[in-house]
Amino acid sequence: MKKALFTTFLAVVVIAAVLIYRAGATFEDRQLEPAAGLTTVAIDESLAIERFAGALRIPTVSFDDRSNFDAAAFRDFKSFLEASYPLVDSRAQLTVINDYSLVYHLPGSDPSLKPVLFMGHMDVVPIEEITRSEWSYPPFGGTVADGIIWGRGSVDDKFTVIALMEAMEQLLSENIQPERSIYLAFGHDEEVGGKDGAAKVAEYFEQKGITFDYVMDEGGAVLEGMMEGLDRPVAIIGVSEKGYVNLVLTVKAPGGHSSQPPRQTAVGILSRAIVAVEDSPFPARLDYIYPTFEALGAEMPFSNRLAMANLWLLSPLVKSVMLKNKDDAPGIRTTTAATMVSGSPKSNILPTRATAVINFRILPGDSVESVTNRVIELIDDERVTVTAEYGVNPSPVSPTDSRGFELIAQTIRGMDDSILVAPYMVRGGTDAKYFYSVSPNVYRFMMLRIDPTTIGYLHGIDEHVAAEDYLEAIRFYYHLIHLSISNRKSL
Ligand SMILES: [Zn+2]
Repeated sequence: MKKALFTTFLAVVVIAAVLIYRAGATFEDRQLEPAAGLTTVAIDESLAIERFAGALRIPTVSFDDRSNFDAAAFRDFKSFLEASYPLVDSRAQLTVINDYSLVYHLPGSDPSLKPVLFMGHMDVVPIEEITRSEWSYPPFGGTVADGIIWGRGSVDDKFTVIALMEAMEQLLSENIQPERSIYLAFGHDEEVGGKDGAAKVAEYFEQKGITFDYVMDEGGAVLEGMMEGLDRPVAIIGVSEKGYVNLVLTVKAPGGHSSQPPRQTAVGILSRAIVAVEDSPFPARLDYIYPTFEALGAEMPFSNRLAMANLWLLSPLVKSVMLKNKDDAPGIRTTTAATMVSGSPKSNILPTRATAVINFRILPGDSVESVTNRVIELIDDERVTVTAEYGVNPSPVSPTDSRGFELIAQTIRGMDDSILVAPYMVRGGTDAKYFYSVSPNVYRFMMLRIDPTTIGYLHGIDEHVAAEDYLEAIRFYYHLIHLSISNRKSL
């Protein structure tokens, strides 16, 4: 008995020693060297801020109901860009795609080099009318007060579009001659899926046989105080994004008067199907969050390193902790959200038809097809038909050892070497998903500092940005574009 106890004790000590050893030895510092010698950029700050405010005054809103599309606003926005950025307007070739999306091309001197593509979207989400009075400044007023720029689109995503235009105008004013071609592409319907804008822009490049060294879109940001146990800011660069599908569940039944019901109505059958799907969530997988931890590993607190370095033993524990956190859970599984149901139009009429919509955000590794098949299996009831309404597969994963990723990471750290850089998977969708056909290297990042208080403004009330942050983004694009359009392989 004593001997068995001792053996158990010894085993525990050995395992603990292995866990601790691995926590210390697994993660090395993977942060890239900051780009050296980034010069100060002589921006006319007040002019740049005024132009940004002007862009926010044009209500380029995307509505779910396409009949509300305001063509005049998008034409005004194009005219605004032409008038505000005369050097880009005169030196870059502008191609209008599908009436409203804009593609600028500044040719490089060396056609053997693959061009780079910087993207953003001109459209913004609408204002909920009942919240209009809650805005501190009018949502389309473009107000600048106490160093803050207010308005819908000040973050998502005129921030990107206008900062890119400012950076290009500045580079052209300094007579920069690109060796590598650069394209800017601005979509007009990202907020409603990007099918008329970015998808058509990607098709245009495919048809012309243009492929890119790398593609850069909105997506990640610089997180401050948002990663537990990390004091330093973390720039997360999106290297992949989840897919999306709406599955429509339909049950048909004979109907009749509710005074003579069958044992189960269409609504009852449908409800059981929804419960069956909800009761078997998709399995959790750590593959797509691990690279983020790996990049930050050396900087993470010991407890995190202990867990992430020992997934061979602790992955069930890590998964169960993450699944309990509503911010972490979507990063490790395909999510299930029943969102819409309908049945009979009247309380005393038996439904002849009941429908439900379940929305899934699909983790790479799963697909629209695999999710649909799993749901059919879970429901296991021939009375319920399952059809995929709108589906987009998860994106491929872009590499972190490409010239593009390294330039982005090194430029970020060249501007502020306290920032740590890590790849991550975007949980929502961006226009970038359409561009894997023209480059394997597709990244999503904006040089914008976000903390727990600012995150709520996105798509919400009082969207705003600090003028300082906007100016930092212009400088970031200036440096990144400058480095990208030279013919150097890496820094
Ligand atoms: Zn956006």
